[in-house]
Amino acid sequence: MHVPLLDLRLQYERFKGTLLPRMHEFLAQQQFILGPQVEALEHAIAEYCGVPFAIGVTSGTDALLLSLMALGVGPGDKVITTPYTFFATVGAIARLGATPVFVDIEPDTYTIDAVQLALLLDAYTPKERIKIKAIIPVHLYGQCADMKPILACSRQYNIPVIEDAAQALGAGYVMDDKLRKACSFGEFGCLSFFPSKNLGCFGDGGMITTPDADMAQKLRCLRVHGQTEGYYHNFIGINGRLDALQALILQVKLPYLEEWTERRRNNAAQYTYLFDQEGLTEFITPPRERTGSFHVYNQYVVRARDRDKLKQYLLERGIGTAVYYPLPLHLQYCFKYLGYKAGDFPHSECAARETLALPVFPELTQKQIEYVVDTIRRFYKKNKIFF
Ligand SMILES: *Cc1c(COP(=O)(O)O)cnc(C)c1O
Repeated sequence: MHVPLLDLRLQYERFKGTLLPRMHEFLAQQQFILGPQVEALEHAIAEYCGVPFAIGVTSGTDALLLSLMALGVGPGDKVITTPYTFFATVGAIARLGATPVFVDIEPDTYTIDAVQLALLLDAYTPKERIKIKAIIPVHLYGQCADMKPILACSRQYNIPVIEDAAQALGAGYVMDDKLRKACSFGEFGCLSFFPSKNLGCFGDGGMITTPDADMAQKLRCLRVHGQTEGYYHNFIGINGRLDALQALILQVKLPYLEEWTERRRNNAAQYTYLFDQEGLTEFITPPRERTGSFHVYNQYVVRARDRDKLKQYLLERGIGTAVYYPLPLHLQYCFKYLGYKAGDFPHSECAARETLALPVFPELTQKQIEYVVDTIRRFYKKNKIFF
């Protein structure tokens, strides 16, 4: 049996009947830059996330970069995030000449440890703290970071929060007895429409949400080279627009998102149930859903004993898996100048050694899930001599 990590062709079959006629209409118009398609998607995403404003941008990476630019982050400034995330989170900070400051993750949710965040902020002198221009919690794998204590820190020290929700469109977190969506907590929420995300386009795309009308206006300006009106520039911006073509595709796909999310959640629950049933929890630690959290499983990531050998064994039996991420960012060659060393963030380093993402895409069948679990069971049975 073949079980790829992700197969987008099955999904395409679902919506191509709706998409193709609209695509023809769109092509007849030849209106590719901004305009009604982008605006319609911005409204739809803002409403979906429960945030007043949304601004379509080139990618999740540019969403992060533009949010930091809107806050005026630059050389001498510091921005706090975790070292266990996709490169873009930290790359955006460093590209602006600011210094990334890392806080380790919680070992069971892989999101930033809010207790350590508070300790770090408390330990700064007011003069040092003034340099911290933002906190970027990453809603990793599709689960929100622990936003309540993070927002408490943000308020106490008046430091804005930028949510990296690239993997978490539709994820929820209960605050003040209300289930709120990812992107509705911070000054900015950053989304990615990269094809492998829960809502993907046909290439690169991204979105920034914000509750602040002035910031929304500034972002709209920054994504067109800081232009306020034709060829007059108040800021130095970038070419950072979402393509109208991608916005059209995303409008067609958005109505399916809830169903796809439910399927991801069912697949995740099946895996977790079967690992328990098969007595595999000694070798495989399934992901933990934080209480009051609605996980959207962009990735179903387990901790696996003898991870690399298991990955190879699965590959040889037609099962695609991935390691997100094999080397934490504080140990990357390009961040050597930050002066971190191995052992500085033990939970991130341990996760990098032990975690493995299994196929969880919406169209996965029960048979495929059973095959994956059974193959994992055979691996540990065969190797039991080592344990
Ligand atoms: C995908 C991703 C990004 C970047 O998104 P792109 O659209 O690929 O630029 C940023 N942060 C995280 C956590 C991601 O997973």
